[in-house]
Amino acid sequence: MDINVTASELKILNFVSDVAKNTGYKVYLIGGFVRDKILGRETKDMDFVVLGDAIEFAENLSAVAGNPKVSFFKNFGTSQLILNDIDLEFVGARKESYTPESRNPHVIPGTLHDDQLRRDFTINALSISLNESDFGKLIDPFGGIKDLNNKIIVTPTDSGKTFSDDPLRMIRAIRFANQLEFKIEENTFRAIAENAARIDIISRERISEELNKILMCSKPSIGFDLLYKSGLLERFFPQMTALAGAEFIDGKGHKDNFYHTLQVVDNISKTTNDIWLRWAAVLHDIAKPATKKFESGQGWTFHGHEVLGGRMVPKIFAQLKLPQNDKMRFVKKLVELHLRPISLSKEEITDSAIRRLLFDAGDDLDSLMLLCEADITSKNKQKVKKYLENFELVRQRCREVEEKDHIRNWQPPLTGEMIMQAANLPPGRTVGILKNHIREAILDGEIENSYEAAFELLKVKAKELGIEVVKH
Ligand code: ATP
Repeated sequence: MDINVTASELKILNFVSDVAKNTGYKVYLIGGFVRDKILGRETKDMDFVVLGDAIEFAENLSAVAGNPKVSFFKNFGTSQLILNDIDLEFVGARKESYTPESRNPHVIPGTLHDDQLRRDFTINALSISLNESDFGKLIDPFGGIKDLNNKIIVTPTDSGKTFSDDPLRMIRAIRFANQLEFKIEENTFRAIAENAARIDIISRERISEELNKILMCSKPSIGFDLLYKSGLLERFFPQMTALAGAEFIDGKGHKDNFYHTLQVVDNISKTTNDIWLRWAAVLHDIAKPATKKFESGQGWTFHGHEVLGGRMVPKIFAQLKLPQNDKMRFVKKLVELHLRPISLSKEEITDSAIRRLLFDAGDDLDSLMLLCEADITSKNKQKVKKYLENFELVRQRCREVEEKDHIRNWQPPLTGEMIMQAANLPPGRTVGILKNHIREAILDGEIENSYEAAFELLKVKAKELGIEVVKH
């Protein structure tokens, strides 16, 4: 075997090979599995090319293997089954031709070579024969091994046509460049830039699937920078490219918020694999362009960018077809709160300010602190040290106040229901006013965190509003 495989993988490959021999098919291992084995990366799925009907072949295989379930997609001529926890996918060797408006090709049966030619990159076109005459032999018609050694992403055939046919390949090129830390060959990258507008025919779901894979790389800035430079990012995420560039007035400039954001994303990627925390890093300054002002005496300001940024999150999630659920609300919350620990560390830290932070951040306090630390991108080592020390102080104060007051996940002692009953009020704004007033008083330390104290305050505030509290 020209690639190193584990004993259990070899067992599967031998099994596939035997079934191929006994049923008269020719079968080849192809694509990501071969590539990743050569690179020594972890592998999961095995993709196979079958000369002939791949669905029939998978059914033959299943019959010999004790009938595991075969799933198939008749339209695509592909079938799939799981053996020993490994996902096996079979496709009939094919030739493809495309029409301009769709990435779904017209397909006719072809040879192994035709099938390798339709693969997106030379490193993804490598194949291993599973046939008796040359079992284990590597078939590399486009110099895939050379490109793996030189760490190059290049298409096996004309790049312009490859990308125009299926524009998703442009983002895949960038994703592979990022995951593998490879370079995209010059002409291939030029073809991406020239065809960037073609990405518009790809669904946002597929784009985001790739974008998420980029975001989960150890250094996502590589992928985002390539998306930006190729002109792709602008097509589906213009709010992010709007962060790029620095303006100067009276010789005063502000930092380039696109590259600052990328630095923050790289920083947070060193401390977390939580994709939503990584998204919070992508979006933390997203409203800076919309809030930017030059104020005499002050220079550049971005007042309220955290509030507007939070408001932009649902729209951007919808635009990118990311989930509209708790994950989105988590990202929104972190964007809204990302300046709070910083502003705290600048002033005298009062218990009430810490209580407020604990209350607003709740269980997401640790994530928020990670985001704030990642947001420190100064090159000045002294400054970085000072900021980190300040944050440590904020963390410590949070621990102290939490131990004393248990504010995280705290609910005020009087619920809306209780207030409605006591003051004989229907649901509405007044209930909200009373409830907030009590909550604020407790957070500010003006009254004790108890039912009795809260009820006393309710009576006073209700009286001010001309409402009588009837029950206790
Ligand atoms: P990963 O599992 O990391 O996504 P992979 O290379 O296995 O990497 P898949 O999407 O599983 O990626 O695709 C398997 C193989 O199918 C690829 O290696 C490639 O040969 C081929 N392929 C996938 N998508 C395309 C595409 N859009 N155009 C051409 N070939 C493709």
